[in-house]
Amino acid sequence: MENELSAELTFSGPLPRAPAVEELLRPLAAEALKKSLGTRGRGELAAWAVTGDRLSLTLAADGGRPHQALLSIARQLGESLGRTSKIGVRTLRGTRYRVRFEVPTPPTRPITLPIPHTLSFEGGSAVLELTDLSEEALRDNWVDRVVQLVLEKAKRQAYAGKEQYWSLLTPARPREHAGRSDPTEEMLKRQWVRSGPTKGKWFLGPTVAHLYRTMERIARTEVLEPLGFIEVVQPHHDSFDILLKTGHLEGLPGEFYYAAEPRSRDPADWERFTDLVKITRAVPSEELAKLVGPPSAVLCYAQCPTIYWWLSGRTIPTDRLPLKVFDRTAVSNRYESGGRHGLERVDEFHRIEPVYLGTPEQLAALREELLARYARVFDEILELEWRTAWVTPFYMQQAGGVGVEDATAHVKGTIDYEAYLPYRGTREASEWLEFQNLSIVGDKYTKAFTIRAQKGELWSGCSGIGLERWLTTFLAQKGFEPKEWPEGFRNAAGTMPRDVDFL
Ligand code: ATP
Ligand code: ZN
Ligand code: MG
Repeated sequence: MENELSAELTFSGPLPRAPAVEELLRPLAAEALKKSLGTRGRGELAAWAVTGDRLSLTLAADGGRPHQALLSIARQLGESLGRTSKIGVRTLRGTRYRVRFEVPTPPTRPITLPIPHTLSFEGGSAVLELTDLSEEALRDNWVDRVVQLVLEKAKRQAYAGKEQYWSLLTPARPREHAGRSDPTEEMLKRQWVRSGPTKGKWFLGPTVAHLYRTMERIARTEVLEPLGFIEVVQPHHDSFDILLKTGHLEGLPGEFYYAAEPRSRDPADWERFTDLVKITRAVPSEELAKLVGPPSAVLCYAQCPTIYWWLSGRTIPTDRLPLKVFDRTAVSNRYESGGRHGLERVDEFHRIEPVYLGTPEQLAALREELLARYARVFDEILELEWRTAWVTPFYMQQAGGVGVEDATAHVKGTIDYEAYLPYRGTREASEWLEFQNLSIVGDKYTKAFTIRAQKGELWSGCSGIGLERWLTTFLAQKGFEPKEWPEGFRNAAGTMPRDVDFL
């Protein structure tokens, strides 16, 4: 049979003689297998043996996996033997679990797994064998999760290099650009910004702070407030629990900044540390590592996960839908490593993140309104050369719901906004900058966080308004002479502050 689970049960005392156990075990196993496999498949008790206080047994099944049946057999056996022989199940362990499953995209390279196993592929199917599974591992369906992981890894190999699908939605309207230079270089030359004091962080002086705040105000007053978005204020730390639910923890562990707590706040515990600082005038890193615990959270990566947490377990009344909120307080932190470039790709940046929840129809309509409002800002206030593209990660394309040919007709997915940066070269050959995006994710997060509508289906989505990207895009295209800036932006910016003329 395709799936086979061998297990060992230890009892609190010697088991009755074999015929008595068999009499008990056979009907229990038949019943449990039938119940857990249903009409999907069939199973059997393939082998069993008793030695002292130990029972080993093997369940085999087609069309389903037999670990739920094993758990049920163990429970009922314990109950029954408790009554007749005053013994119960002490431990339950899966000694060997062999499963066979179809792999639509066979891997081209070896697949690694972090728990004891063997894995082989033949034709279109895989044979996976796990050894030494605890009761919790059986109860928690590890085997199903490992099968999913193997399928995902195989698919990832097949799609390597084409992770994101890109197709133009609205083309750019070409414009004349006053800007020619790399805006970060120019800002540095003018001493408007300073790089540091830690990796990928920037200090914005008065002029750039004013421009950045102007961008933020435009987004709020021209897009969010007219559409009825209301502000929330959220914490800067994201909990591991939240990131487990959104999938970020498995998706992006290498992009987080991790936050750790001191093991104690008692000055006495820190005495050696402070003494070393006083003597050496340097950071005693080894001592510090002992005094600080392992990471217990991450610095905000994106705002929407914690907004979903805020709504978790809640039911939203019909007359409050679509619910439209935004956060502009939490600062985004990402370890960009080699990708860092000026203010365009930094490790700490400021985003306004609108998040919306509603019926699929409400969100489809809201997206049109957002698209129109954004377009007005980029065309009439900032006068940018920009385009939009439909980008969808490969796993969503595969999910069946998202069409690739007729992207505009579909609601679920992500739209990227991209801008031409003249300093990077020609429109055709240079890489454009993604300066914001807009997504509708279906019920992925409302399900994960158990957020319900009073009636009917509840979908959600979010949009990432990257203010450093708005700013660098604007300066790259419009240059640094306020008199050459579009009138709409000049009006919004008002009087520029006096910067500091360093000597
Ligand atoms: P990219 O592909 O450029 O890394 P992303 O897909 O990681 O962007 P999202 O997580 O979708 O970005 O975040 C939405 C917005 O946040 C982006 O459109 C951009 O405006 C901004 N953003 C993302 N990463 C950075 C960064 N390192 N520096 C500045 N802004 C950023
Ligand atoms: Zn989001
Ligand atoms: Mg990124």
